Amino acid sequence: MSLFEVVDPATEAVIERLPAATADDADAAVARAAAAFEGWRAVAPADRSRLLRRLAERLDAERERLAQLEMRNTGKPIGDARGEMGMVADTFAYYAGAPERLLGDTIPVAGGVDLTFREPLGVVGLIVPWNFPLTIASWKLAPALAAGNTVVLKPAELTPLTALAFQTLAEEAGIPPGVVNVLAGPGRVVGRRLVEHPGVAKIAFTGSTEVGRGIMQGAAGTIKRVTLELGGKSANLVFADADLAAAAAAAPMAVFGNAGQDCCARSRILVERPAMDEFLSLLEPEVTGLVVGDPADERTQMGPLISAGQRETVASFVPEGTPVAIRGSAPQGKGWWYPPTVLTGVEPGDRAATEEIFGPVAVVLGFDGEAEAVRLANASIYGLSGSIWTRDLGRALRVARALETGTLSVNSNTSVRVATPFGGFKQSGVGRELGPHALEHYTELKNVFIAT
Ligand code: NAD
Repeated sequence: MSLFEVVDPATEAVIERLPAATADDADAAVARAAAAFEGWRAVAPADRSRLLRRLAERLDAERERLAQLEMRNTGKPIGDARGEMGMVADTFAYYAGAPERLLGDTIPVAGGVDLTFREPLGVVGLIVPWNFPLTIASWKLAPALAAGNTVVLKPAELTPLTALAFQTLAEEAGIPPGVVNVLAGPGRVVGRRLVEHPGVAKIAFTGSTEVGRGIMQGAAGTIKRVTLELGGKSANLVFADADLAAAAAAAPMAVFGNAGQDCCARSRILVERPAMDEFLSLLEPEVTGLVVGDPADERTQMGPLISAGQRETVASFVPEGTPVAIRGSAPQGKGWWYPPTVLTGVEPGDRAATEEIFGPVAVVLGFDGEAEAVRLANASIYGLSGSIWTRDLGRALRVARALETGTLSVNSNTSVRVATPFGGFKQSGVGRELGPHALEHYTELKNVFIAT
């Protein structure tokens, strides 16, 4: 049996050594999930609701323990980890209401009655990344289970701990054995087996666009359903009429939150030229004042990157000699630290302005007028997220409609709410998570005509 190490990115200390799941383990997990499916889908909707509510309560009761675990394994600040674990419990509480609300239609047709039903898919494979490990897993687990599917969850190799803890909590809440299966193992082995397995009906994936492309190809062999939440290079559009102080105060955490390892990171800050100097002077103290350091400290706003490799990738976007407009602080010594960094001498076509950096590096670009703002924002293969800062409501709506982006906020840097749909346009993905819409991706629509 081969073991892999789980490491604390803030100290580089090994937290745990875990056995790496194999392709055979994936086959066995799919078999367990398949055996549990008929029983789980037959659980009365009110009883399935009750079990999911109980699971939400267990998650809430264990919130602090889960937050500490997530903090150590990812290096994210404890305040962020607590917020995320709150969202995990809320996500289960929200979808606990779904089993009794999976409504169908009656459709007027000639000669009879026509009915639609939402049927569960079967075994669903969930493959998730390391940046928001349990949060992103919950966005898939909760609607999948509410709709009557059974699941095999594969967390990222770097961050398996909260997913493994979740498996135990699900059992304690009374979810029947085999309904939730967690496998910690390498993506290229375990993930790939789930993608190609004929017994898996759907893959719900969050991760890089590159791996997502491979998953789409791998799923083609069995015409599996796929939903993909992929990369981003989102724009933060600041118009000259905006509340510039509010925009500058919100811009740093819109990129440097989670140390920039956020698919929604608004890492292209586009500023209307007449406001550029004022905006940059307001931005500077916000960036240099960020508290970067010990994730366990309540005051910390930014922790380390997830791994040495990730730090190398991020640093490659700011090679020696790159003029840096604003630079925050970062601890020295052990841990994979990288300071918050703002670049201004970048052209729209440069690598730093087009590729997802997935680290604390933002570029600031200028624009003149609405049309150029929209053109620059849309000049990306991605379309996940973004913000619009303006006091003109008409403009906010015009620009929002023109942006090729799935999840927008006006005069705010937030992206995600349990009750609202989240997902990307273009190469940022396929499908939506959260809100009522996610349930459509975990069910098949069946039509039944009854002759009268
Ligand atoms: P990744 O694509 O490297 O890995 C994601 C998951 O896929 C991991 O569990 C990994 O083990 C697995 N995997 C890797 N190769 C596989 C294969 N061949 N077959 C099946 N599974 C495989 O992503 P990451 O580095 O963990 O996360 C960072 C990326 O995730 C960024 O691009 C980020 O934008 C994206 N992301 C997107 C969203 C979103 O909602 N759109 C959210 C968070 C992260």
